[in-house]
Amino acid sequence: MKEKVNMRHAVAIHLRGIKELHKVSPKFFPVLTLHCIVNAVTPYITVFFSAQILKELASLRRDDILWKWVVASVLGVGIVTILKAVLWRRYQTLLNDLWGRKEILFIHKMFSLDFSEMDKQSNHDHRIQIRQNESWSGWGLMKVQEVYEHLVTGVIGMLSGIVLTISLFASPVPDTAGWLTVMNHPLFILIMGILMVGVSILAGKFTAASTKCWSEFAEEAAFGNRLFEHFGFAGTQKERSIDIRMNDQQRLISTYWAKDVSFGVMGPFNKMAQGKMGIYASLGVCITTIITGFIYVFTCLKAWGGAFDVGSITQYVGAATAMVDNIFALTGLIGVLEANTGYLEKTFEFLDIPNTMYQGSLTTEKRSDRRYEVEFRDVSFQYPGSGIWALRHVNMKFKVGKRLAIVGENGSGKTTFIKLLCRLYDPQEGQILLNGIDIRKYRYDDYMNIFSVVFQDFQLICQPLGANVAGSMHYDRNRVQKALVDAGFGERLASMEKGLDTMLYKKLSEDGVEVSGGEAQKIAIARALYKDAPFIILDEPTAALDPIAEAEIYGKFDKIAGDKTAIYISHRLSSCKFCDEIVVFHEGKVTQQGTHTSLVADTKGKYFQLWNAQAQYYTE
Ligand code: ADP
Repeated sequence: MKEKVNMRHAVAIHLRGIKELHKVSPKFFPVLTLHCIVNAVTPYITVFFSAQILKELASLRRDDILWKWVVASVLGVGIVTILKAVLWRRYQTLLNDLWGRKEILFIHKMFSLDFSEMDKQSNHDHRIQIRQNESWSGWGLMKVQEVYEHLVTGVIGMLSGIVLTISLFASPVPDTAGWLTVMNHPLFILIMGILMVGVSILAGKFTAASTKCWSEFAEEAAFGNRLFEHFGFAGTQKERSIDIRMNDQQRLISTYWAKDVSFGVMGPFNKMAQGKMGIYASLGVCITTIITGFIYVFTCLKAWGGAFDVGSITQYVGAATAMVDNIFALTGLIGVLEANTGYLEKTFEFLDIPNTMYQGSLTTEKRSDRRYEVEFRDVSFQYPGSGIWALRHVNMKFKVGKRLAIVGENGSGKTTFIKLLCRLYDPQEGQILLNGIDIRKYRYDDYMNIFSVVFQDFQLICQPLGANVAGSMHYDRNRVQKALVDAGFGERLASMEKGLDTMLYKKLSEDGVEVSGGEAQKIAIARALYKDAPFIILDEPTAALDPIAEAEIYGKFDKIAGDKTAIYISHRLSSCKFCDEIVVFHEGKVTQQGTHTSLVADTKGKYFQLWNAQAQYYTE
């Protein structure tokens, strides 16, 4: 059973929603407000003019007056209709734009999070859930604009209705009307008023109860959407197509469609619509229809008794019905407000994830001599929520301008070491020092700028080749060209008609070029070279290559790296034997350190053991 929603909290959280949406689209709410005002008063304008014409027709039938009303009516209704159409168009355009713009909030959040938060699976799941809530019925941030629209239209419509309906109650039936004079009695008027408002509220409450059923099924919907996203689009993912075809996965996938899926004909949502939810919704609508009948009887009886002429019946029935409809809609809106509160809480929980990483203010002075010295002092680290030490008591000092290799079996902590060095995470114990100062004390962006890293799972994006290398649309073409040539991509670049402007991959551009894994890796290396940072790190970007090819690339890279401090990571020892210093990681600890010759001479060490185990595959 869901807890009762606190109304103050529901209103406050929706106001915050308006504020957030206003931030990304400042024109949206002013236009929406105008659209709502015009929408709310339009029915009354039509009712008002037709009532005047009818009144004249039913009474004096003066030609000149009738003509004036007809012209005024055509003009009035015409202008309002045009205004309504223009505002509706503008509102729709801004609304479509808002669907995209609100993503800015999430993108900014995701990209400004501490990396450790950004990397957490739970935060990714959280974001996906927000998206799924939105896609199954617009719940969350976008529902806020819907609530706002109905609220403004409802309040203005209701107030205009009340103003126009007052004289329906206030116009007395003449004494000659016999028993009908009972309608003049204040008690009768009070009871009638309460009845109309009360029953509209009751009808709205039924609709609200119907709407609330959605939130009872929120988890089911989220799960249903998750399955749908996973299985529904399996065929559209190119990278999965070979596996699906070769392993007959299509059968597994179609099993999903064979079941009663959440949103299917026999699924829980359809059942809910046919049950409680449908009954409540129908009751709400039935009750408003009954009140409309009631209003007709009351208005006609008053006209029959002589309180006003026949022409006014249209005005009063129109106004009173619109008023009742608006009260009904406003009460129903409470249900939407309550149901959406939980979804908004989820949204803001995500947008409010705090950044806890310490942000220092020192600059990493750009030293022309590139003399940066890094030291790991008794560093230990666990991934958030893991409970296992990925690194334990690591001590190490880099010699500037040298070639450092980090070797070890898979899972020994090599990548984690690099992640800490680049401050993607902070260690729980110990310190990492740059020129003797804890790296936490430097400005984060500044510190990041001294590293160029090519990770194993590097990613290029569907943008022109040159922009990929430079990480920007505006760049120094000569330098990008040189970086690509140095990385071994020169020949391929020469064969590209559009050169640096060649679009990578075909996902976003028909004339895009699909590059092979090896070519992509060269582009990634060129990107690291273009950054021209004092530290350059290769974290097994060559894992897909054979050991000899990897050793060749590492050897070549050694020349390109020049006076930079280069760090090479590999689980293949042969690739790194040329390095000045080799550090051996084992189960998160540094177990050995030295040159290849000294390490291989220690026949009891891990390095010797690994060297021999691997050597048999490729030395002879
Ligand atoms: P290597 O680069 O030597 O293959 P890693 O540094 O990637 O090893 O991993 C070291 C240990 O940390 C492994 O036990 C691995 O399972 C764990 N690990 C790596 N990344 C994460 C992560 N994001 N969350 C939790 N544990 C991780």
